[in-house]
Amino acid sequence: RAKDGGRNQLQFYTSEMNARVTERTLIEGHLRNALTRHEFVLYFQTRIDCGTGRVAGLEALLRWRQPELGLVQPDRFIGVAEETGRIVEIGEWVLYEACRQAKAWQDAGLPRVPVAVNVSARQFRQAGFVQEVRDALESSGLAPEYLELELTESLMMQNIEAVIGAMRHLKESGVRLSIDDFGTGYSSLSYLRRFPLDYLKIDRSFVRDMLHDAPGAAIVRSMIALGHSLGCRIIAEGVETHDQLGYLTQQGCDEIQGFLCSRPVPGDEAGELLHADG
Ligand code: C2E
Ligand code: MG
Ligand code: MG
Ligand code: MG
Repeated sequence: RAKDGGRNQLQFYTSEMNARVTERTLIEGHLRNALTRHEFVLYFQTRIDCGTGRVAGLEALLRWRQPELGLVQPDRFIGVAEETGRIVEIGEWVLYEACRQAKAWQDAGLPRVPVAVNVSARQFRQAGFVQEVRDALESSGLAPEYLELELTESLMMQNIEAVIGAMRHLKESGVRLSIDDFGTGYSSLSYLRRFPLDYLKIDRSFVRDMLHDAPGAAIVRSMIALGHSLGCRIIAEGVETHDQLGYLTQQGCDEIQGFLCSRPVPGDEAGELLHADG
């Protein structure tokens, strides 16, 4: 019996692994032509200033319209794109497209707010990344203070000196910098102060747990205090309820992002959200 159980378990693992390999191969194959076939599209999610209730910025979130797979969410393909290195050219497209859209909204007379772009580690470590950012700004005509780059903790904590150097160059170019998913990586607090950061984004897992127990609430309170002591504006991610908004506002959080304000929507709908706010 024990032997049988072992064999069944082995079969189970094997079929699960097969499924994972098949999915990966499928995604990797379709990703190869995705850019040239113009299958990528940017969605945008607004974030709101807790003080004024107005739109304080938007985050560009990548979607993939694959004819056979439908609308593919980033969790299903960003990892594969990172492993294969394809994220470099995809990320470059995201950067240009986000700048182009932001400039188009401004030219249409909509309120001027920064647009945030997620940057993957592999993309950031490319030698030409800082220049790529400058090129995207120049070719779109977008003023640099309206471009925000979101970097993850894990990106920032590897090759710290090189990262700080690149971040300083980006700051000199006038763009804004955020630390994304804060609290989920392993930030060295002693290094944190050396990064030229404008925003700290509290990961949504903390917001989700915040009102369930006292430690959860205390952690978020401490993150807000820490971020402020570093001179950052604090953005809470994944805010879904009025209770969460209430607590965050009471604790001095500066901005909130989440389904409570808006889901990520295509560019034209995001423009309407900006328009309604203007
Ligand atoms: P992220 O940068 O932390 O983006 C926020 C994610 O949380 C988005 O998922 C958004 O749809 C989701 N979200 C926002 N509000 C709520 C809420 O109230 N509740 C819940 N449950 N979720 C909420 P999305 O769009 O699926 O993106 C997932 C991740 O994929 C992003 O996390 C980011 O790490 C990555 N990603 C997205 N676009 C890009 C991109 O252009 N380049 C790179 N390198 N990564 C990207
Ligand atoms: Mg982000
Ligand atoms: Mg995040
Ligand atoms: Mg993330």
